[in-house]
Amino acid sequence: RRERLKAFLGLPTVSADGHRAELVANIGSVQDAQQARQQGAEGIGLFRTEFLYMGRPDLPTEEEQFAAYRAVAEVFGGEAPIVIRTMDIGGDKQLPSLQLEQEDNPFLGYRAIRISLDRPDLFKTQLRAILRASAYGNLKVMFPMIATLDEWRRAKGQLETCKQELAAEGVAYNERIEAGIMIEIPAAALLADRFALEVDFFSIGTNDLVQYTMAADRMNPKLGYLSDPLHPAVLRLIEMVIRAAHREKKWVGMCGEMAGQPVALPILLGMGLDEFSMSASAVLPARELISTLNRGQLADLADKVLELEDANAVREYVEQHVQVLR
Ligand code: PEP
Ligand code: MG
Repeated sequence: RRERLKAFLGLPTVSADGHRAELVANIGSVQDAQQARQQGAEGIGLFRTEFLYMGRPDLPTEEEQFAAYRAVAEVFGGEAPIVIRTMDIGGDKQLPSLQLEQEDNPFLGYRAIRISLDRPDLFKTQLRAILRASAYGNLKVMFPMIATLDEWRRAKGQLETCKQELAAEGVAYNERIEAGIMIEIPAAALLADRFALEVDFFSIGTNDLVQYTMAADRMNPKLGYLSDPLHPAVLRLIEMVIRAAHREKKWVGMCGEMAGQPVALPILLGMGLDEFSMSASAVLPARELISTLNRGQLADLADKVLELEDANAVREYVEQHVQVLR
């Protein structure tokens, strides 16, 4: 099997009927980026930058962050897309330097973009570092945990402010850097048509989207039966988001665990997902699987599963209708 997979290294991802898909990786460090490249990723769909902030008493400086983002860009070089997500602290990830208050419901609390918008000092330091690194590769910036249009507009506004400041300082950056949002809160999925008018792209974060749609803590093993991205309620949201993005000619990716799951791939391909971001080890198996799938025929399968009752029914249906998964 390993030898067979190796044949897919360095190849584009193409379905049996000739549709291109983009297979990229989720990373937390520069080292991860090197491994991801070696394992066949076409770029980075999610750089979880919070790892730069964790396990230390102070905050990372603009220079430190710039060096890390630039290094990731340089691992891939050229046109390869590199999506940098602004920090997603809070929830399960604590930070000594921020002295966050204990909360009863940290996953529903002060985290991610909610902190960034509240702390322009911290946020702008990160945005400046990302913008400076955008002179060295195809960087894109992505905001986590967006629930409202106002949050998106404020985040985008800070990005524009940082651009102007850098321009005034004579510092190089990519003026046309793409800015997008994660769709991981049901409110944002439901308003995807409105967001699609303004953002450059979406990336669906199914880990949190499932948790918030099913009201099931993603860390609680007792709730495994609820934490299933194949639940039709989740699939309907995903389908809606993809349709809304494409109507405005925006691309849409997915960076939750679901994007690398073999049983999910035929559905997502059938719905027209453009970019799949997964752990590096899942890239070659996914490329091989996609090469056997006929995307044209999967549109019907994607429609059909939206009408099923529960995740098990979806799983059975896909396994029955996609030969290689049997
Ligand atoms: C997600 O929520 O699906 C996601 C990719 O982000 P994280 O797992 O870092 O919360
Ligand atoms: Mg998330």
